[in-house]
Amino acid sequence: MEKNFLDFRFPVTSSIDKTIRLKICNECQLSCKYCHREGSNTSTQITSEHDLNKIMTLGKEMNRNRIHLTGGEPTLNIAIEKIIRTFINNNFEVSITTNGIFCIDTLKRMLDSGLNDFTFSLHSITPEGFVQFNRSKITTSQAERWIYIILSNIAFLLENGINPDINTIVCDRIHQSEIIRKCFYQWNLNVNLLTTVNSSFDNMQEKIRLIRTYDLLPFQYVRAINCSKSRYDFVSNNSFKNRISFLIFEDFYLNSLCENCNKKRIECDEKYYGVRVEKNKNNLLVRPCLNRNLLIPIEGFTNTIIGKEIIKMNNYELVIK
Ligand code: SF4
Repeated sequence: MEKNFLDFRFPVTSSIDKTIRLKICNECQLSCKYCHREGSNTSTQITSEHDLNKIMTLGKEMNRNRIHLTGGEPTLNIAIEKIIRTFINNNFEVSITTNGIFCIDTLKRMLDSGLNDFTFSLHSITPEGFVQFNRSKITTSQAERWIYIILSNIAFLLENGINPDINTIVCDRIHQSEIIRKCFYQWNLNVNLLTTVNSSFDNMQEKIRLIRTYDLLPFQYVRAINCSKSRYDFVSNNSFKNRISFLIFEDFYLNSLCENCNKKRIECDEKYYGVRVEKNKNNLLVRPCLNRNLLIPIEGFTNTIIGKEIIKMNNYELVIK
């Protein structure tokens, strides 16, 4: 099976997405312009054994074996090590998306707890870019210090045999070129290019420019069968070690969730992207959609129409259009 993208043909790889995105805190040191905080700004930290047990029960009921920790900045959760250890001890895979701003002791403790799958959200590695990407005012010297911490943490992971992925936004030529040079070419890391929503920047033209500038070759199209997640992987023509990927939201909707939604297609940023869990006012809640304020209690979620449809999708087969 093959798929066309920007005049290239890609072999197709597909899989069932078995991830629960778990928002474990709302706090963050930064205020990146493109951050959606998983759809809410009021959630509280998830820390208790009781909550973690409920999340694992949901995971088992829905045939999900992977927990992806998000926030806010998940490393600001006071129980981060316990969370990682608990899920891993119960046979869940654990991954994290982080801004990279944490001390080396926190990093060592996360590694000791068994975490080895990191994605860094990194939109600039210059102080000017860092300042520009933040909504709230930060000083250049503060930005310099944070960049130093982030790059040191990536270097520490590399020294320990762990290659983090880098997520960056396609919205500014200079910033992404610096990240590609440093992270893709110097450190041989995978770089995921995310498209901005609501931006005047011409993402498609920029993607074409990137492919030409770096002489990229098509490698594969990776598609999750049961949600909108997908990506086009490219490799450089002199190294097949790591990839530059364009992350795409395919047109994938849930009947039970999206059928009567007036945001469908026009205002829907992500389509159906997967299961998110957060804690609000002492309740654990499932958020099936980033764009709508629809929160469903975790208890009994699998018996709701939406929960049942999501479980049914575990048996879907891929149809490429
Ligand atoms: S906004 Fe949400 S509910 Fe509406 S179509 Fe998009 S994913 Fe479905």
